Amino acid sequence: MSTRKKYRIAVIPGDGIGKETTPEGLRVLDAAARRFGFDLELTHYDWSCETYAQTGRMMPEDGLEQLSRSDSVFLGAVGWPGVPDHVSLWGLLIPIRRGFDQYVSLRPCKLLPGSKSPLANRGPEDIDFYVVRENTEGEYSSVGGRMFPGTDREFVSQQSILTRIGCDRIMKYAFELAMTRKRKKLTSATKSNGITFTMPYWDERFAEMAKNYPEVTTDQFHIDILCAHFVQHPDWFDVVVGSNLFGDILSDLGPAVAGSIGIAASANINPEKTHPSMFEPVHGSAPDIAGKWVANPIGQIWSGAMMLEHLGEKAAADAIVQTIERMLAEGGPRTRDMGGQAGTVDVGKALAEAVAQA
Ligand code: ATP
Ligand code: MG
Repeated sequence: MSTRKKYRIAVIPGDGIGKETTPEGLRVLDAAARRFGFDLELTHYDWSCETYAQTGRMMPEDGLEQLSRSDSVFLGAVGWPGVPDHVSLWGLLIPIRRGFDQYVSLRPCKLLPGSKSPLANRGPEDIDFYVVRENTEGEYSSVGGRMFPGTDREFVSQQSILTRIGCDRIMKYAFELAMTRKRKKLTSATKSNGITFTMPYWDERFAEMAKNYPEVTTDQFHIDILCAHFVQHPDWFDVVVGSNLFGDILSDLGPAVAGSIGIAASANINPEKTHPSMFEPVHGSAPDIAGKWVANPIGQIWSGAMMLEHLGEKAAADAIVQTIERMLAEGGPRTRDMGGQAGTVDVGKALAEAVAQA
C-alpha cells in the first residue's frame, strides 16, 4: 500500500493580482509535491468581488461547509474598487477566520536578499522574526454600543475581551514557535501601564506560560516603544506575540521593515487542525497593476510554503523558502517592485524549476 500523503487544498484566487499570483503559487507547490513525494488535490473556487456583483454574496451560503472538506485554504486576494472593504472582509475573510477558529495570525518578517528595506544599513542578518497575532478576541470584540445618539449625552463604548483560553492558546503557540527557532526568544507586546485590566491580565498569562518554557528567553515592551524598536532595532526580535489590535499593528509594521509588500506572506492558523487553516499573501488585489502580469508572486509562493509546513511537509517548505532566498541572492529574475524586469510568470517558473532540483 502506498504511504504517499494527499492533501486537499481549496484554492480561492479572488480578485485582481490574486488571479495572477495564485497560479504561480500552485506551480511551485506542484513542483515541491513532485520533488518531495506527496499529492495535492486542488478544488478551485471563483469566489470574488465579481461573484458579489453577480450574486450579492462573496461566497455561497454553504461556503464554509464546502471549504471544510479541505485540509487548507490557499487564497490570493479579495477586494476591488467599487465593492466596499467591509463586504469583502465580512463576506469572506472574517467568516473563514472565525468560522474555522483560525486563532493564530502568523507573519514572517524576513529581509530577503535584494529586497529593499526602508531601514538604511540593514541586511538580511538583521531582520528575521515572526509576528504572532491573536486573531479571535481582544480589542476587536463586537461588544459595546452607542446611546443617546445625536444628543449632547451621546456616548459610545466598546469592550476589549480577553479569555484565559484565548490568551493561553496564543501564548502556547508563540512559545512553541520560539522553541523551534535558533535564538528561542519571545517578546510580548503589552500596554499594561495605560490599559489597566486586560493588559495586566495578558502579562500575567504570559508570565504563567513562560514557566513551561525555561529555555525561551522572554521580554516585553509597551506597544508604543515596541513599534519604535521594530524600526530602530529589528535585530532584537525573534518571535513577537500580541493581542488582536497590537498584533494587527505589528503585523503590518513587521513586513514593512522587511521590504517589498510583494514578498510578504501570512497564515491564519488553526493549530489543532480541527478546521482548515488559510494561507494568503499580505498584499491586496492591487488594482493599479492587475492585468499587467507584473505582480511579484513571491508573497503568494512563500504563503504556499507556510501551508506545506502546517500540513507537515517541513522539508518541502524549507526548500521553497531557501530557493527563494538563493534565487534572489544569485540575481535571478525579479519583478519591477524589486528593481527587475521579469513578469509574474517568469518568477514563478524559475522558482518552480529550482524547487524541482532542490
Ligand atoms: P487591500 O486593502 O486589499 O490590502 P491595498 O489597497 O491596501 O489592498 P495592495 O493591493 O496590497 O494594497 O496594494 C498596495 C500597493 O502595493 C499598490 O501600489 C500595489 O500595486 C503594490 N503591490 C501590492 N502587491 C504587490 C505585488 N505582489 N507585487 C508588486 N506590487 C504590489
Ligand atoms: Mg489594505
